[in-house]
Amino acid sequence: MTEGTSATHRVQPAADTECAGLRAVWERLACALAEAGRASDGAHLVAVSKTVPSARLREMFACGQRTFGESYVQEALAKQEALADLPIEWHFIGPLQSNKTRPVAERFAWVHSVDRLRIAERLSAQRPADLPPLNVCLQVNIDREATKSGIAPDPEEVSDLAHAVAQLPRLALRGLMAIPAPTDDPLRQRDSFRRVRALFEQLQSEGLALDTLSMGMSDDLEAAVLEGATLVRVGRAIFGARPGPGH
Ligand SMILES: *Cc1c(COP(=O)(O)O)cnc(C)c1O
Repeated sequence: MTEGTSATHRVQPAADTECAGLRAVWERLACALAEAGRASDGAHLVAVSKTVPSARLREMFACGQRTFGESYVQEALAKQEALADLPIEWHFIGPLQSNKTRPVAERFAWVHSVDRLRIAERLSAQRPADLPPLNVCLQVNIDREATKSGIAPDPEEVSDLAHAVAQLPRLALRGLMAIPAPTDDPLRQRDSFRRVRALFEQLQSEGLALDTLSMGMSDDLEAAVLEGATLVRVGRAIFGARPGPGH
């Protein structure tokens, strides 16, 4: 990883109860890595903080969490402003419209949700020269759900987009992101993640130097880690249920 995504930089902890949800997720991640026979630092936690007030992020930072994921541009910018004194690594994980790319190119270290070339081209053109290349993942709509964004999981389509994005000068293509169709069945969870990994390995075999599989959330992070996830994106298991529809 060119940028730190370490979930285990434990500074002097805040009060135990404030850190409990976060610690439980670190623990789940560590157990899943051990069960998978993978290195204990083989996957990192992105704390998904959409709808969560910045004061809570500050607490989670004090608990030792450094990497936060946001889905809504305006909301994220307000929190970045409020937390500008903290060296947080910000990941953008939500659907991205082309008229909102500039602030994302300027203020985030990662974008997980690139699903078309036009968005990638804008992010590359708008990435400030004094920042390192923007790390990006291509989002794959792995279960072909009408309600989800992402490129269709067709090997040729994914390959064409990946090779085009890899050419862009101010982006660093790191891998794939996916959100499978929700299911409680661990075998079906693993099946979706396995298909994401197959696409990822196909791209690697085509010569792309990729190192990131962004997959796994509150309800399926174990299945994702067993199938090779290197970034898990977890919200509710850390912060509790989110309010309102669409969140
Ligand atoms: C909200 C969200 C998550 C976190 O989901 P939880 O179920 O709260 O863990 C992960 N990834 C993306 C893209 C999201 O929008």
